[in-house]
Amino acid sequence: MRLTTEAPAERFGAAFCGGGPAVIGPVIAAARRGQLQEFLDSGILLVEPDLVGPGGIAHYRIPANSLGGAFLEFLDALDAFDGDAFLPLRDAEETHELRRHADEYPPLSVVAAFLRRVGDRVVALLAGHPRCRVVTRASVHRVTLREGGDGAVVTALAEDGSSLEFLADRVVLAMGGTPLPGYATQELTPGLSLGAYADKVCHSESLVDRRKDMPARLVDAVARDGRVVIVGGAHSAWSVAGLLLRSPELVGRTEAPEITVLHRTPVQLFYLSTAEAEADGYPFDPVTDVCADSGRVNRFGGLRGPARLLAQAALGMTGETVPVRLIRIGEETADREAASALDAAAAVVVATGYQARLPELLAEGGGGLTARVEGTGTVVTEDALLVLADGSTDERLLAYGLGAGLRISGATGGEPGYTRRADGVWLYQNGIGDIVLDHLPALRGDVRRHAHSTTTEVTQR
Ligand SMILES: Cc1cc2nc3c(=O)[nH]c(=O)nc-3n(C[C@H](O)[C@H](O)[C@H](O)COP(=O)(O)OP(=O)(O)OC[C@H]3O[C@@H](n4cnc5c(N)ncnc54)[C@H](O)[C@@H]3O)c2cc1C
Repeated sequence: MRLTTEAPAERFGAAFCGGGPAVIGPVIAAARRGQLQEFLDSGILLVEPDLVGPGGIAHYRIPANSLGGAFLEFLDALDAFDGDAFLPLRDAEETHELRRHADEYPPLSVVAAFLRRVGDRVVALLAGHPRCRVVTRASVHRVTLREGGDGAVVTALAEDGSSLEFLADRVVLAMGGTPLPGYATQELTPGLSLGAYADKVCHSESLVDRRKDMPARLVDAVARDGRVVIVGGAHSAWSVAGLLLRSPELVGRTEAPEITVLHRTPVQLFYLSTAEAEADGYPFDPVTDVCADSGRVNRFGGLRGPARLLAQAALGMTGETVPVRLIRIGEETADREAASALDAAAAVVVATGYQARLPELLAEGGGGLTARVEGTGTVVTEDALLVLADGSTDERLLAYGLGAGLRISGATGGEPGYTRRADGVWLYQNGIGDIVLDHLPALRGDVRRHAHSTTTEVTQR
């Protein structure tokens, strides 16, 4: 392995590794803050192997868990901020198509087409600035922190096999996610482990993500005997359940499989207000389940859209019958029932989340750096610094996005009882985008959040 000792010729204020929704967020946030020019002047590098903009969303077979309007919100607020750069998007066909779904949970394919256009604008902005550069068809595979805190070297491998090196003051890691380590053998509750079932376990991405395949032996098994256990109670789990009911052909069937969902915490539903939750007779804690900023109930943890409707049906709240049984594990009788369901299942789909996809991380001199990973994903601080295995952080290394959501804070908002990690396209363009920009030395201390989301609160929040 060759270690960098000399600085590469090109130096940037920030290197964004990845070009998905998480990375386009701060560009939009910079425009909202009236700081787009400073942002570009600070020198931005973006490295992405594929298209800039849609990221994984281009490949998910499920509907969005945010309203179409949430993705359009920044376009609708352009008049209130430095938004000329994004103005041409208003007339794009993809924007009109998404607008037709503004008050619905659109197919993610419609969202992806729109995000692709946003990505094109971001590329045009960066490519048109002398201090910025977009490198596509290249993957970041190593980041080396230079001695004395003097930036970091980003090493990328281009599709043609050439190696590229760039120096940056800050490195922003947002390359998407991969399944959490050990997901196939995890202990669900004391005494109930997936280890005994590992040969029939797959990750939810093998169903929701068109780039992945469910192992053929599991498809065959479900086709023969349609019993599927889904582990997890959040959006991914209910999205998999909905997908299996809508598209049984994915598991070789013409009829929906019989689904059992194993969940540890009560099924949480999103409500726009406490009054709405009360009117529905939905039990919630007025402190821990309510976002103080927005008044939403279960703003981050609550199911929305089609996933919510299915969960409500399974809970018996709608009068509709669905072939989905719920078992809340963590109690002896329920755990026995769960073990029988696992014994009988043809396949077990684990929908408990992701960790961040990271490049090799090195300290100059060659020592490897390992990121800390917990059950909720790769650990980052409230202000998006990557936490290393020894608990330390380095101001040059930021991470967020799929698999590296932030703990909720004043900047993100959210219900205090939410223990998982906050991410989502709207947040990347708002609270998380602000946090990332505040790390860039050229922008810090000049925060003009004049347009911060007075209109924002309708959709994702
Ligand atoms: C199934 C599913 C559905 C979701 N639905 C919604 C939703 O409806 N609404 C919402 O707001 N959020 C949703 N999310 C959450 C989140 O907003 C999305 O996951 C979003 O795609 C995350 O953006 P990202 O940029 O972090 O990762 P990704 O979208 O995965 O993008 C990562 C980017 O990094 C690139 N990359 C990969 N490797 C490298 C490398 N080595 N070097 C450089 N670049 C690299 C990839 O090509 C890609 O473009 C969903 C998540 C999942 C898993």
